[in-house]
Amino acid sequence: MSVTPVSFTLNDLPLRDDLRGRSPYGAPQIDVPVVLNTNENPHPPSERLARALADAVAATAAGLNRYPDRDAVRLRQGLADYLGHGLTTANVWAANGSNEVLQQILQAFGGPGRTAMGFEPSYSMHPIISRGTGTAWASVPRTADFRVDVDAALAAIAEHRPSVVFLTSPNNPTGTALSVADTARIAAAAPGVVVVDEAYAEFRREGTPSALELLADHPRLVVSRTMSKAFALAGARVGYLAAHPAVVEALQLVRLPYHLSAVTQTVALVALDHADELLGAVADLRAERDSLVGWLRGHGFAVADSDANFVLFGEFEDRSAVWRALLDRDVLIREVGPPGWLRVTVGTARETAVFRDTLLAVTGR
Ligand SMILES: *Cc1c(COP(=O)(O)O)cnc(C)c1O
Repeated sequence: MSVTPVSFTLNDLPLRDDLRGRSPYGAPQIDVPVVLNTNENPHPPSERLARALADAVAATAAGLNRYPDRDAVRLRQGLADYLGHGLTTANVWAANGSNEVLQQILQAFGGPGRTAMGFEPSYSMHPIISRGTGTAWASVPRTADFRVDVDAALAAIAEHRPSVVFLTSPNNPTGTALSVADTARIAAAAPGVVVVDEAYAEFRREGTPSALELLADHPRLVVSRTMSKAFALAGARVGYLAAHPAVVEALQLVRLPYHLSAVTQTVALVALDHADELLGAVADLRAERDSLVGWLRGHGFAVADSDANFVLFGEFEDRSAVWRALLDRDVLIREVGPPGWLRVTVGTARETAVFRDTLLAVTGR
């Protein structure tokens, strides 16, 4: 007897009704020369840094018979120092990517009978993690230029009384940043926790502030960050948040014991020690982003202002055809966001140049 008889599918399993018919989240992982679809930093660690990481992992390997520090204290201390703003270890929590941080937030503050809210188009993992934790999802549309309409937000908050509100700034997939004043108005009105997902914070333009500034006055505000984007460490899976210590205590009630492996903690600490090198390309990527926005507009495309390391552009009658034609020429971007738009990650100067040439070739501009 085969252990995988063909007649048996996941629908024959006692799968939760709300999961039936769903597909796993994730951009296609296709091995082509120019990969600009998941907002990674295009620069791998230097040989020197790769060596430092390997040496530290080797030292950690000698103690892998023991569980890691359950509270990741040294790492949280390092992350607090990196963030500044007077934050301490007690204000910071870390997990395997900010997606796990967000899931822990929903495990602690969401759940059956509760609602999470977001302003869409935005990061599609927010509703997916909400539903995965049994939390209802309330979607409020952004304006035509992808801003959060704060009056509409306050009305929706009054109507739905969400336990968790997601604000993404800079927003994915549009690149739009939110002002501190608007964030403060929403934080003051929301009855539950307000999560500002700042995965792209390091890429924001000069003069665009971070919600970290508001933490001291808003004890239910949470700012989440990640080492996956600017920090060029997507493969290590390290995300974190800053908040009032009470929020961190709440997350400790739902986190799995030893969720952050000793190897992960070591790698993240070495990365923090080399923050200058890892973040070294951020200025170049921002400049490359600004010039790509200008170039696309110069060629007649609609482009959303971006404070991130990607650009949302359009509008195409058949965006799937454009996405496919680019892929046929070895350039992988992302079909995401409002209909008619596509998102491209800012890569190296060479990758971005290949993208520009290929886009002209496939659109005939
Ligand atoms: C990429 C991204 C994340 C990061 O996820 P990790 O789990 O930290 O890799 C979080 N939020 C947004 C909006 C993102 O685009």
